[in-house]
Amino acid sequence: MKAITVEPGRAASARLEEVAEPDAREGSVLVEAVAVGVCGTDVEIVDGNYGWAPPGASRLVLGHESLGRVIDPGTSGSLAPGDLVVGIVRRPDPVPCPSCAVGEWDMCRNGRYTERGIKQIHGFMSERWRVEPEYAIKIDRSLGLLGVLLEPTTVVTKAWEQVTAVGQRAFWEPCNVLVTGAGPIGLLAALLGTQRGLDVHVLDRMESGAKPALVRALGATYHAGAIADVGFAPDIIVECTGAGAVIADAIKHVASGGIVCLTGVGTGGRVGSLPIADVAADVVLRNNVVVGSVNANKRHWYKAGAALARADRGWLAGLVSRSEPPEQFARALQREPDDIKVVVRFADV
Ligand code: BGC
Repeated sequence: MKAITVEPGRAASARLEEVAEPDAREGSVLVEAVAVGVCGTDVEIVDGNYGWAPPGASRLVLGHESLGRVIDPGTSGSLAPGDLVVGIVRRPDPVPCPSCAVGEWDMCRNGRYTERGIKQIHGFMSERWRVEPEYAIKIDRSLGLLGVLLEPTTVVTKAWEQVTAVGQRAFWEPCNVLVTGAGPIGLLAALLGTQRGLDVHVLDRMESGAKPALVRALGATYHAGAIADVGFAPDIIVECTGAGAVIADAIKHVASGGIVCLTGVGTGGRVGSLPIADVAADVVLRNNVVVGSVNANKRHWYKAGAALARADRGWLAGLVSRSEPPEQFARALQREPDDIKVVVRFADV
């Protein structure tokens, strides 16, 4: 079968190639790939800056935002042939650490977790893939291709859960949220903000095009420019750019008692000679919390599925801005100005 593989650590090594059928040890559920979303992490891996091949292998099958159709449900008692499924990305570490032991692999303490298409387990960019029944999430059939948005939705579902958990430390009734970055993660964070009844604001560099339109279609407010100019002090900031200057501004401008949740994974981002003790003093004097959030556990996958099922299908469809066949995977990895979520399309839904 055909798969898109990469040699982690080596730039420009990605290729579409013939590989063996998926190993039965990867799970008893056999799935036909429908689509795989592409995100910044895939670009990092393809550029040679991230990613690990499985032990003993030099190449890794790419892709962690899956959508597929069950061919053989294997030992699963709840799946049937034809069901649409998405594969969970992370697996617990082998020790396991206390978090992994209780199923919170997203909070893994020793870093020995593995991730499909990212860290030591093959991903989903192959014509067929296998998954363990307990890591296969069946999606609402009416979502069709939009099921490919489930994985990024799990990431923001966890981020929102973190914000809520931190908020519980004191009396707190947030009214508004500012999401920085109107990529897929930012837009899905905004969707969940509206589902929580908040006054949602999204800030991005783009001044026109699909991003402002999608934000307004949610009933949210779009801002192109600096956080200092949004006109209010946000109770919550969900930071989805990973850009140093935006992160610094988020910490500076969040409301007293407010929470900044960081979801972006950037690099460098030095911001002048930031007076870090002054920044910390402001955080102390205003009881702010800056919390990082990565990945998602089964609880978030379940909640994200429910959130997507509740969302307007037309709006979600606007997020999937481009679809490329496997032969054109390189094009899928290139960012075009109006791209939101680009997917590699293996089969019809
Ligand atoms: C994925 C997460 C993963 C993280 C770090 C993200 O792109 O969505 O599932 O934990 O990368 O590898």
